[in-house]
Amino acid sequence: MRDWLKRDPIVIVSGKGATLRDAKGRKYLDANSSIWTNLHGHQHPKINAAISRQLKKISHSSALGFANEPASLLAESLVKLANPGSRRREEADEPALAKSASSRRRLHKVFFSDDGSTAMEVALKLAYEFARRTRGLKRPKFLSLEGAYHGDTVGAVSLGHIDLFHKACSGLLFRSDSVMAPYCYRCPFNRAEPERDDARTYRKCNWECVEKVEQTFAKQKKRGEPYAGFVFEPLMQGAAGMIPQPSGWLQRTTEIARGHGALLIADEVMTGFGRTGVASNGSDTIPLNVRKHPEPASTFACAAVGVQPDFLCVAKGLTGGYLPMAATLTTQKVFDAFLGNYEDFKSFFHGHSFTGNQLGAAAALASLDILASRTSVLARARLQRVLRDELKTLWIHPNIGDIRQVGLVVGIELVRNWRTREPFALADRTGIRVCEAMARRGVLTRPIGNVIAIMPPYCTTTVQAQEMVGALRVALEEVFGKTSI
Ligand code: PMP
Repeated sequence: MRDWLKRDPIVIVSGKGATLRDAKGRKYLDANSSIWTNLHGHQHPKINAAISRQLKKISHSSALGFANEPASLLAESLVKLANPGSRRREEADEPALAKSASSRRRLHKVFFSDDGSTAMEVALKLAYEFARRTRGLKRPKFLSLEGAYHGDTVGAVSLGHIDLFHKACSGLLFRSDSVMAPYCYRCPFNRAEPERDDARTYRKCNWECVEKVEQTFAKQKKRGEPYAGFVFEPLMQGAAGMIPQPSGWLQRTTEIARGHGALLIADEVMTGFGRTGVASNGSDTIPLNVRKHPEPASTFACAAVGVQPDFLCVAKGLTGGYLPMAATLTTQKVFDAFLGNYEDFKSFFHGHSFTGNQLGAAAALASLDILASRTSVLARARLQRVLRDELKTLWIHPNIGDIRQVGLVVGIELVRNWRTREPFALADRTGIRVCEAMARRGVLTRPIGNVIAIMPPYCTTTVQAQEMVGALRVALEEVFGKTSI
């Protein structure tokens, strides 16, 4: 906090595309999409126009007991995007599949709220009560991943496991358990010596992280109170330090969770809306057919790898990063558990003043349109490839330990010594110093400890992406000296 008070803040006054401008007239590249929210760039003409059109009708009216047009249309669009498989089956007219388990789990219902934390809070409360009503669990318990971050409200914090953030209010929290996250670079079971590549690609292990998930579920079952829910970020954990999951981890662990009757709660606050890339399998190879027939199959990370959660939480990019709005999608079965006559008081007692806000919904509808466009899919595929190529140039620096890219999300872990993976002490402020040096070169991002996050808006040009990585390269030289291996 003292650091913040010491310096003049950069005061942002405007933005266009991937650039921001401050009060002194300096231009910056928005290399973390304004804390992972922006999708298509600032001042996008289509989103601006959609908001202006909506402004002429109404900005906000309560959704408690009332409906409104843009929020209803948005709910419909989200349901379609969250169930791409079932949509295709419906289009192909395959009614038999309508009865399958996965279609029963279709995400049919949408509950709007304000931000990522409240989207998670809604999922948590719904899952808690659903488990009590349908499984007879007295005090439903949740399992999430080590290092997890799901927001800053008390329920969301209770699901999180970042000591530094969460210790101060620990007395306010309820207990949730954590299980090993698949952090290949620092995994105690990974026997591989460090290489100049993403640790997932050269790891040597026997999937002990999956075993740990199995053991944790089994242990809890033995105690007679199986977990009510498994909470996870699919494909990449963000605030945990940009921790990507090796291909197959998500499918295997969610199968285990399902086998133990747990509800799957997917936090796609960061990963949603195309962030995890166009390859749609968690890898970074862009299939050839994307270039010819781009299809927005990978709007959500879960759908991209065929995992069907019971709760899908989205926020940040929902409105293209324009306005605070969030949604929790869930199944008809969960919805039905809260249906009853007035006097039954079975309703879900939760609602925010700005739920279903019309301006947010109008922005979100425009953003989804852009996301589905061929231009956007191709631009994302190109940006993903450019980032991958540019990032390769960083490996010559000895303080680069790991470079982790999942689609359009990148985490670069800085270490004292790449051969030993020795980390910098947090008190060294290494990540902060590198980001400050990048800012002096006109590129803004924010570190997560010793991990530099790069998550550009989708409209970022090739040259701008090169400038982002280039600024990091020069910042490394400034902070660590001009060394190479
Ligand atoms: N979940 C995840 C995965 C997040 O990254 C964040 C925010 N960084 C949140 C939840 C909380 O979102 P918000 O800040 O909008 O409350």
